[in-house]
Amino acid sequence: MVANDLILDDAYMWTEDKKLSPNTEMSPEFRARKHLLFLVGTRPEAIKLAPLIKRAEADPAHWIVTVCFSGQHDELAQQVFELFRIEPQFRLKVMRAAQPLSELSSRLLEAFSPVLADVHPDAVIVQGDTTTAFVGALTAFYERIPVAHVEAGLRTNNPYAPFPEEINRRLIAQIATWHFAPTVRAMKNLLAENIPSEKIFVVGNTVIDAVREILRRAPETNTAEVLAPPDRPFVLVTHHRRESFGLPVERVFWAIEQLAQRHPEIDFLFPVHPNPNVRERAVEILGKKPNILLQPPLPYHLFVHLMAHALFLITDSGGIQEEATALGKHVLVTREITERPETVEAGLAILVGTDQQKLMIAAEQLLSSKSRLQAPISSEVTPFGDGRASERILEKLYAQLGAVEITSKADPAKSSYL
Ligand code: UDP
Repeated sequence: MVANDLILDDAYMWTEDKKLSPNTEMSPEFRARKHLLFLVGTRPEAIKLAPLIKRAEADPAHWIVTVCFSGQHDELAQQVFELFRIEPQFRLKVMRAAQPLSELSSRLLEAFSPVLADVHPDAVIVQGDTTTAFVGALTAFYERIPVAHVEAGLRTNNPYAPFPEEINRRLIAQIATWHFAPTVRAMKNLLAENIPSEKIFVVGNTVIDAVREILRRAPETNTAEVLAPPDRPFVLVTHHRRESFGLPVERVFWAIEQLAQRHPEIDFLFPVHPNPNVRERAVEILGKKPNILLQPPLPYHLFVHLMAHALFLITDSGGIQEEATALGKHVLVTREITERPETVEAGLAILVGTDQQKLMIAAEQLLSSKSRLQAPISSEVTPFGDGRASERILEKLYAQLGAVEITSKADPAKSSYL
């Protein structure tokens, strides 16, 4: 892997230059406990906020932690809460079957409003680009509570890819007070949108903290081996993005079906997302091949161990592109465009889009190159950081909260009808 130490170090120097004077740390406010409200909606948010929540919870001298779960991905996120032993104080139930985004957004706004008004934390923390994150940030703005955005600055510059995430994260950037960018590229994207440089901190991505934490733990069961027999090599597949529902999904599945046909010696292990647009097509196209193993979504710890043991990964997930760098795994990205080109630059990802031929050719090339498959290329510092992002975020946020003047509680102009 292209070691990214230099770039990352530069980034830290860059932010160090901008940091508050060390004297701030002596102010009385700095010594006070700060209340953080984490808004979590989906599995990836739960995974990426878990290291931050756990670290803040472990430091009660400095932090009061409240977690609000919107319920956007109900069971998938719950698995993650159990794994990291997180017990949300608020559980909202905003999901309805086949609910359009507009309805989800208005439900979220209504549901978050009383929680934020009630808790009134020093800062609301949102992660990434989901509808929960965007509407959470918007609600915090209406309540005049400052927002910290974790994983800020990712951009494809195409409003419809990923949809609706590209616009969600742009809108969050307009609202947030603090922007925790995972990489220098993300920082530059924010600067190009005139986000003030002193509010941007390049810290790495908390997903590297999460994946390292899981790798440190021994696998809790040998279920990973049951799912993927150790004597059989396997490719790990996920595919579920909204923008490829319909024909693009089918093309990806036909490519996998063909690969499974040509390679009976290899298993294709596919935890299928519960969305019916994906699940029904997967069962229809892939369900009958003996070496395609369709599974329900897997608990995160099992999934990480499977990623670590897979020949390579086929996915349209953003988080998996990042995790691949911590595991030194090659990944074929079934998207036309990625906001994580760092994995491509590290020589680990190939963008194959949803073109059946492209996917098959790239997979065949990987399968025929034993050296590329056998030697996982991993390093301490990945393009997405070194596993200490949550530590840096809390450090920066604490200093910033000590310095920020929060006026909302006393603001007479505050009104739900503004
Ligand atoms: N993941 C998991 N179990 C699975 C499939 C994925 O725990 O069966 C994890 C994966 O390791 C990654 C995250 O879920 O951290 C990705 O979630 P998703 O693809 O829903 O979202 P995205 O990464 O595209 O935002």
